[in-house]
Amino acid sequence: MHRTHTCGELRLSHAGQSVTLSGWVQRSRDLGGMTFIDLRDRYGITQLAFNMETRPELCDQARKLGREFVIKVSGTVVERYSKNANLDTGEIEIDATALEILNASKTPPFTIEDESDGGDDLRMQWRYLDLRRTPLRNNLMLRHRMSIEARKYLDSLGFLEIETPYLIKSTPEGARDFVVPSRMNPGQFYALPQSPQTFKQILMVAGYDRYYQIVRCFRDEDLRADRQPEFTQIDCEMAFVEQEDILNTFEGMVRHLFKTVKGIDIASVPRMTYAEAMRRFGSDKPDIRFGMEFNYLDGLMKGKGFNVFDQSEAVIGIVAQGCASYTRKQVDELTEWVKRPQIGAKGLVYCMCNEDGTFKSSVDKFYSQDDWKAIASAMGANAGDLLLILSGNLASTQKQLNELRLLMGARLGLRKADDFKPLWVIDFPLLEWNEDTGRWFAMHHPFTSPKPEHIALLDTDPGSVNANAYDFVLNGVEIGGGSIRIHDREVQSRMFKLLGFSPEEAQAQFGFLLNAFEYGAPPHGGIAFGFDRFCALFGGQESIRDFIAFPKNNSGRDVMIDAPSSIAKEQLEELGINTRI
Ligand code: ASP
Repeated sequence: MHRTHTCGELRLSHAGQSVTLSGWVQRSRDLGGMTFIDLRDRYGITQLAFNMETRPELCDQARKLGREFVIKVSGTVVERYSKNANLDTGEIEIDATALEILNASKTPPFTIEDESDGGDDLRMQWRYLDLRRTPLRNNLMLRHRMSIEARKYLDSLGFLEIETPYLIKSTPEGARDFVVPSRMNPGQFYALPQSPQTFKQILMVAGYDRYYQIVRCFRDEDLRADRQPEFTQIDCEMAFVEQEDILNTFEGMVRHLFKTVKGIDIASVPRMTYAEAMRRFGSDKPDIRFGMEFNYLDGLMKGKGFNVFDQSEAVIGIVAQGCASYTRKQVDELTEWVKRPQIGAKGLVYCMCNEDGTFKSSVDKFYSQDDWKAIASAMGANAGDLLLILSGNLASTQKQLNELRLLMGARLGLRKADDFKPLWVIDFPLLEWNEDTGRWFAMHHPFTSPKPEHIALLDTDPGSVNANAYDFVLNGVEIGGGSIRIHDREVQSRMFKLLGFSPEEAQAQFGFLLNAFEYGAPPHGGIAFGFDRFCALFGGQESIRDFIAFPKNNSGRDVMIDAPSSIAKEQLEELGINTRI
């Protein structure tokens, strides 16, 4: 028998029992008369004690064990002399009587402790060693819990989990597809799904009115810390529903997850229109854990001879509470920060609201103390606060100030990982104009329904059409998005036309869906949650990478298995792929 218990199981109540444990050597301490070993498995750590006096040979054997050796140990559970309150098993240790090495291990390239000394690449290359670390193990356990609880909730409401294919058809809309050559159809390619969108809609036509799937999706985009080329969605669709039904159903799911996984009761989730979110926070995914809302200062700050503002479409400011004590160096550093290409502001105007009631700004030449008094009062600022003001065209100024607001929020400790503030953002515009290509793009996707009362505007003023589309935002991160769909062939055809598809192209790309709409498509809508991000947020972290067992690095590589890789010439030929590339 390899074990009677796991390494996380034994307590004081087991004292006196003979047990056998198997696991990995995390650490050993040789104190001369005694050798202690921390034995680790998935469930925890148990201390093994080897006594030089009573069992010198065994102790000698234990001393020679290297880190990560796999061993099997038998002994008696005894109360520990010096207890460790940080360990569940910290009140006991095993007085070892037998030791067997099940497998040796090379010295691992980094320490397998809560805090590892391994860099990202190293940890990814030896992912199986990294996965032995407690933080990673906790992340994967959290992920498991969340998927189980999501399934339980959806199942309780009659949702069916239905699998949809991974080998599908490439479509020009959306992100870039990963493609797979078809050997049996030379010169033709499948695409891996960016999401099961059209399939779940087809399932609605087929009558499966409550569908979900925890499903892998693939997008060939440039990577960032919170993006992976393959990622997981909780993908859902319902028929015979309106927006309100979907918001309520999935608010329920989020509440269930918070309650069962984190033990947190979430009050009802507030809603904000897209327009309001942009106006107040300059973002369609505002972090509402803190205020620091936008103040539109055109009326107060234009016409005072300060050219930069006079020529700007918008002058917008925020109040950083208690930051009037910032030094010149600190505000210069903020100015440099907003001027970085990633943010793109031309400059930053600031004003300290001094404790003595005076104001000191970067544009004192143009604004009097009285001016500042009025501005500060309009912004709701008090003595001791710092005003930060940006200007330019409306959209980019909102975007830049959003970044600055998030930075200041973080600096002021207002974005705590364990403070959860969910939000629905609703009433998204249907379309977005792309300057480069000179055409409309669907803001969500081409299957999203315009608000029925806006359908007439599709021909006259497409930019003002709002959609029945919504995002679920948690702490400034978009973790869910969906919409009520078009279920009428005519409206869908009009939409494709607006997006620049000829009728033939629309038929070639999406004929299956348009045809399905002619066979009794019910009204339907849905949502998909980014499961990896959801898990990361629940785990209090920004990067999704450590919530995925085998992630890719920033170049899209799996450095453990070394993929992607070239394939043999014969393989290429078999696939009918030009071998000169
Ligand atoms: N398929 C959409 C997405 O991946 C979500 C949805 O509309 O349900 O973003």
